[in-house]
Amino acid sequence: MSGTDLERAARYPDAVDVAIVGSGPTGAAYARILSEEAPGLTIAMFEAGPTVSDPPGAHVKNIEDPDRRAAAQRASEGPGAGADTVDSPGAVKSGERRARPGTFLLADGYAFPGEDGLPVAAMSTNVGGMAAHWTAACPRPSGSERIAFLPDLDDLLGEADRLLGVTTDAFDGSPFGAVVRERLAAAVDEGRVPATQVQRMPLAVHRREDGRLVWSGSDVVLGDASRENANFHLVDESLVRRVLVEDGRAAGVEVRDVRTGETHRVRARAVVVAADALRTPQLLWASGIRPDALGRYLNDQAQVVFASRIRDAERLVPESNGAHGAREQVAAEGALSEQSGVSWVPFTDDVPFHGQIMQLDASPVPLAVDDPVVPGSIVGLGLFCAKDLQRDDRVEFADDATDAYGLPAMRIHYRLTERDHEVIDRAREEIVRLGAAVGDPLDPRPFTMPLGASLHYQGTTRMGPVDDGESVCGPDSEVWAAPGVFVAGNGVIPTATACNPTLTSVAVAIRGARKIASDLASESA
Ligand code: FAD
Repeated sequence: MSGTDLERAARYPDAVDVAIVGSGPTGAAYARILSEEAPGLTIAMFEAGPTVSDPPGAHVKNIEDPDRRAAAQRASEGPGAGADTVDSPGAVKSGERRARPGTFLLADGYAFPGEDGLPVAAMSTNVGGMAAHWTAACPRPSGSERIAFLPDLDDLLGEADRLLGVTTDAFDGSPFGAVVRERLAAAVDEGRVPATQVQRMPLAVHRREDGRLVWSGSDVVLGDASRENANFHLVDESLVRRVLVEDGRAAGVEVRDVRTGETHRVRARAVVVAADALRTPQLLWASGIRPDALGRYLNDQAQVVFASRIRDAERLVPESNGAHGAREQVAAEGALSEQSGVSWVPFTDDVPFHGQIMQLDASPVPLAVDDPVVPGSIVGLGLFCAKDLQRDDRVEFADDATDAYGLPAMRIHYRLTERDHEVIDRAREEIVRLGAAVGDPLDPRPFTMPLGASLHYQGTTRMGPVDDGESVCGPDSEVWAAPGVFVAGNGVIPTATACNPTLTSVAVAIRGARKIASDLASESA
């Protein structure tokens, strides 16, 4: 064999026990749990995008050099690389159709006449998926956000905290975090139980031994357990074009080496499709797995934003961390500033919004910050709204058109209901109230983001307790119509959440991974 043949053979095994499609945090959760609980199983993870960070899957904000960071973001933007992103001042508030750095938008099919559509529905194509670019907020769902038919949900969420490296104290050094929470609590907490009172946002952020704060990406989820597992291989630039099904069961994947254009068939006893909430149903569709509920109940969290300047900020800056020192720290830290407190106003069924209150550069919404502003004193408020779920809100796939990857083109049909409009109006009122509680509004009008801006798309491969045509998979994420095929990601969440969904998706993935571990162990016995 030539060197190239050997490399190709090493990249694409003929057969594995488990093939995982996608290297975002939910695919990574499968690799981690299987590595921990069934290390004898052979696992191949195929990722369409390139490796953009080290270790593979690491958050690009941990890259200190701004040019290298920008290059990693561009390399994650798939067919959208080169397009303008929302980093430019004012672009978010102008409502222009632009992606966030590290993501790209659908080229077409995102809205149809008479419908609302999801004009800024976005994806990332890179090792680590969107979690190489995310804000890392990991709140727990509450009330109707919870998946009521999963009896072990709390245990799974605890495990998800472990895999994602969730902490609540990473930003305790932020100068105004406590002030923001105190002021919000005074406006919100009355009548709430402790779990839904204002608190620190749980974040997948931790402090390294050298003192630097780092954001978790899929690298943290994979952990040493996967990296040191000789039976686990992550194969980048490998687009899975089909899940192979034989006798109604998972049989493997057909994967194209993006570098050479060659196609390989890799046999597998179980296949996990963790390709995001739009591309997971796309791949199932392309593979002929087309249950009624596929792509349906699509839901995004409408998002309202507002900004305030903390009242009396200069007076409140602690002596030891004065305004001047804090400003220098921002410059030195670059991507991850110690000023970035993140507070949480939890969702309740009575107040169906999830509040993410962020200081300065932790906000996904760039603000025009003028120079004399005390670092950390500009607070970006975001309220995410739970959607009124409808069967007809859906992503469909074209038989006669393909996307940039040669897969069936997406067509999004999506409408806000009257109830959605009422909830958004309430959220607009509430955010002004919260902004005024914290400080002086920068602009008196709240801004409703274009639909899709939340980056939290759910429902398209939803889980259900029984196979009644309203769900794609069962409580273990195994597709009803194709045993041995598992789906992962936010699309599996069947409830209308307002909170950031990744913690829940990782929790659900842990359950699926355990099912594979036990199924394959009993088959081998
Ligand atoms: P992804 O991370 O999207 O990964 C899917 C992977 O599958 C991609 O790498 C893709 O290239 C690959 N893939 C797709 N199709 C194929 C194929 N056919 N073959 C091979 N590979 C394929 N969530 C939160 O919970 N909290 C937050 O604070 C938060 N903030 C965010 C901020 C930003 C700026 C962004 C971009 C996202 C944010 N999110 C947040 C969303 C979060 O990143 C996602 O929920 C999470 O990454 C989803 O994980 P996943 O594994 O399901 O999919």
